[in-house]
Amino acid sequence: MSNDNHTPDNGAKTSNFIHQIIDGDLKNNADLKQIVTRFPPEPNGYLHIGHAKSICLNFGTAQKYGGICNLRFDDTNPEKESQEYIDAIKKDISWLGYKWNEEIKYTSSYFDQLHDWAVHLIEQGKAYVCDLDSEQARAYRGDFTTPGKDSPFRDRSVADNLALFAKMKAGDFEEGSCSLRAKIDMQSSNMNLRDPMLYRILNVSHHQTGDKWCIYPIYDFAHGQSDAIEGITHSICTLEFEGHRPLYEWFLDNLPVSATPKQYEFSRLELNYTVTSKRKLKQLVDQEFVNGWDDPRMPTISGMRRRGFTAPAIRKFCDMVGVTRSNGTVDVGMLESAVREDLEANAKRAMCVVDPLKVTITNFAEADRLDLIQPVHPKLEMGERELPFGKTLLIEKEDFSEDTTLGRKKFKRLVIGDFVRLRGAYVIKADEVVKDAAGEIVEILASLVAGTVGANPPPEFKPRGVIHWVSKEHAVPCELRIYDRLFVEANPDKNKEKSFTQLINPDSLRVVAQAWAEPSLKSAQVEDGYQFERTGYFVADTDSTSDKLVFNQTLPLRESKAK
Ligand code: ATP
Ligand code: MG
Repeated sequence: MSNDNHTPDNGAKTSNFIHQIIDGDLKNNADLKQIVTRFPPEPNGYLHIGHAKSICLNFGTAQKYGGICNLRFDDTNPEKESQEYIDAIKKDISWLGYKWNEEIKYTSSYFDQLHDWAVHLIEQGKAYVCDLDSEQARAYRGDFTTPGKDSPFRDRSVADNLALFAKMKAGDFEEGSCSLRAKIDMQSSNMNLRDPMLYRILNVSHHQTGDKWCIYPIYDFAHGQSDAIEGITHSICTLEFEGHRPLYEWFLDNLPVSATPKQYEFSRLELNYTVTSKRKLKQLVDQEFVNGWDDPRMPTISGMRRRGFTAPAIRKFCDMVGVTRSNGTVDVGMLESAVREDLEANAKRAMCVVDPLKVTITNFAEADRLDLIQPVHPKLEMGERELPFGKTLLIEKEDFSEDTTLGRKKFKRLVIGDFVRLRGAYVIKADEVVKDAAGEIVEILASLVAGTVGANPPPEFKPRGVIHWVSKEHAVPCELRIYDRLFVEANPDKNKEKSFTQLINPDSLRVVAQAWAEPSLKSAQVEDGYQFERTGYFVADTDSTSDKLVFNQTLPLRESKAK
């Protein structure tokens, strides 16, 4: 089903248990005209791969059913939230390829309504102002095995409660001195129903409402009602909210709301070698274990984007992991292979020499510079690139060997006395090595086989293989940043002895200060993904300047066997 508001390639094809519920609802409920979902991030950090799953599910579901999906900032904790996070979240969702319905929504724009609903509960004798401090309240609440005890303030009169709540709102009380609580059931086996807090005092200004409020609603008192205000039909969240569902429904049942959204839970996405908790990601940033939220080693959407992961690959991955109610950890290799598959099919090709060895073509005159032409992509129509060929070339040190006993099948590269093809250029033969005083090879003297550009040589000149190269005179120096997994253990937040920050891989970033790229890479744009042939997938980094190109390695070409 296509919908102009959404990118057409995701979510529309697959089904999951939530879609089955929706199918049933559409069949059995004639009043259900349009599916309305929402993605409700709290703007207290950058979005990560887990959020991507929720985004794909919420926006993808709306897309599948020709419905709409709201973006709602769940902004009830002003101390931890900021405009920076709001801006980053908007950018990430758009980049992933989704469009939210109409204007962005904020829970804070419903604060007046929520306040009135709190007053309504007080009037109904279903909420009271409680003077227990947080420690006392915890003791009264009991635990899973101990029933709670009623607060001594539970039986205040409606009039007293109204007056006290008005004073809370007016700023007459200290933070923490009292709160508004729902009067439900201190003996409930569901802890969430033991007179949960609705409003607390916070003398903090809010990024959206400024200093208008000094009382703020708790998530539970805001979420379902915001869903009702927006006419959300299916409120999809992660399993940790399952126990909150009775409370979500209690508020809707006890307030004069006109819509009754339903909450459905699915399991969170967890990846090995990764932490997916905003709190922990913030810790990595704040304590400078990484260089910001968009560090290419971070599982944030902005980090993955900077790393060169593509939006279609992330959407595909989210589709592959599916939506269920069973918790489990997904292998990060699955995400990486979705990225590789996309880049193999769609990335531009280029050559870059990481660890150079000079090759002089003795039968090519300096003045005979040649501009070879190569397609940008071997299969897709992406135009051509110029590949200047000169007398002095650079190849990879590891692509040369003096060992003439190396079998042709085993070492498909350059060996003294033998032939190799330079990608997109001539077949050459290594004639001689030049060494320095220490015996290190510093140069190869080679000769080209005339007439072999784009043509096979006679059988006696058959090359061992194909290697990449650049013309020394034309090559562009660049910095390469090579990344490995950020953690050395598969489950960094489950180690009993060590904290996740003690399990950071010391080699997660390796910098190659100077590599040599073919000149077409001068025009590389940030987020332009490349396959550096035989080297890896790379993307130009935001740190690139006109003087110095910087590329991030997105991934090696193949999954390493060691892991
Ligand atoms: P974190 O635990 O990382 O701080 P959160 O749940 O507090 O995340 P929110 O901003 O509240 O972050 O999340 C917005 C939406 O994204 C919620 O509906 C939440 O359920 C969903 N979400 C968060 N993390 C994951 C995850 N790992 N997998 C799937 N959905 C997630
Ligand atoms: Mg949350």
